[in-house]
Amino acid sequence: MNPKAILLIADGMADRPLKELGWKTPLEVARKPAMDRIAANGICGIIDPIAPGIPPGSDTATLAMLGYDPSKVYKGRGALEALGMGLVVLSGDVAFRCNFATVDKDLVVLDRRAGRIANEDASLLSSKLQRVKLFKYPDVKFTFKNAVQHRAALIIHGPKLSTAVSDSDPESDGKQVLEIEALDGTKEAQRTAAIVNTLMHEFHEVLKDDPVNKARARRGLPEANAILCRSAGTVSQMPSLQDKFGIESACIAAVSLIRGVCRVAGMKLIDVKGATGTLETDYQAKAKAAVRALKSNDFVLVHVKATDVASHDGNAHLKIDATEHVDEMLSYIIDHADMASTYLAVTADHTTSSRTRNHEGDPVPVAIMGLDVRRDDVTEFGERTCAMGGLNRIRGIDLMSILMGLLGKTKKFGS
Ligand code: ZN
Ligand code: ZN
Repeated sequence: MNPKAILLIADGMADRPLKELGWKTPLEVARKPAMDRIAANGICGIIDPIAPGIPPGSDTATLAMLGYDPSKVYKGRGALEALGMGLVVLSGDVAFRCNFATVDKDLVVLDRRAGRIANEDASLLSSKLQRVKLFKYPDVKFTFKNAVQHRAALIIHGPKLSTAVSDSDPESDGKQVLEIEALDGTKEAQRTAAIVNTLMHEFHEVLKDDPVNKARARRGLPEANAILCRSAGTVSQMPSLQDKFGIESACIAAVSLIRGVCRVAGMKLIDVKGATGTLETDYQAKAKAAVRALKSNDFVLVHVKATDVASHDGNAHLKIDATEHVDEMLSYIIDHADMASTYLAVTADHTTSSRTRNHEGDPVPVAIMGLDVRRDDVTEFGERTCAMGGLNRIRGIDLMSILMGLLGKTKKFGS
């Protein structure tokens, strides 16, 4: 039987020792029998997702762990978010992450999230915005689509565009909406900035008089009368995992950024009811979906966001709780997948410190269990224990080659 692999990435699960936990990390304190079993029966190590000391983003780290060199293929977050929302982004397009926001008459931001506008209102407003005509730029088309609550994406299609443009989002309330500017001297960047500024102006004109907003005002809700843009990006032409390794692969992730990363890697996206990308996600439903997906795929990536959410909240106890839920997912997978032919790997995409509440450049632990791995002496999964393992210290980009090597999918170099 063909061997298969599941890689579970718990976002930001790695941490630093915390005083409140007696100088242990949340992972070291958590009850995690499944992770410990994978460590005890497998090979362990630590990974520098990008490079030692460099704090990774979830996008660049996940790209690396799928075997892509982020310094070559990463072209900004905006396009990945838009792809993850199911939109089409082509090479040459420029995509932005957007927010519905509330501004006053001087374009000072009163609420960057327009009161976390309900999806229904945002959908109605989005369809109005999509009808805006860009008379000055007849060769340019755009797509605007809302996602969850205030979140949305804008994609500009047309010739001679550039991602070297600044944000209009001032990133905090009480500041004026920014003019988008070219970040380099190229005509393309200047043209893109001008197009997006025109569009933002038109959007504001449409939104401020829209009946949906009039109704919101009557209900005492903040009007969604402006769109803020940030993180211009595009997609690179890159080989799919099928091209690189000849494998069928699928991704189980709720957050659009990771879904976008998986889409550029050519992976199938599996929707799971109850998977939310929050602390309230249905962990078990994702584990079940992973075992099911293994039937028709060689490689399944399962991504869980909750561990990172708890870290950004600075809540070590919530993080321990989320980590224990992740462990229950791994228990389910061990119990229900055919472990005689499955490699099961667990890691984090980066360290997120519950103290600094930021991504940090510390390495993350990894453990891989399966038939042919060289078992080492590590018996517990953790940031420090795994550092003693047989994989030693590897780069994020090496992980996929190691897994694919175990599946017999890497090519010989030389004769
Ligand atoms: Zn992350
Ligand atoms: Zn994070």
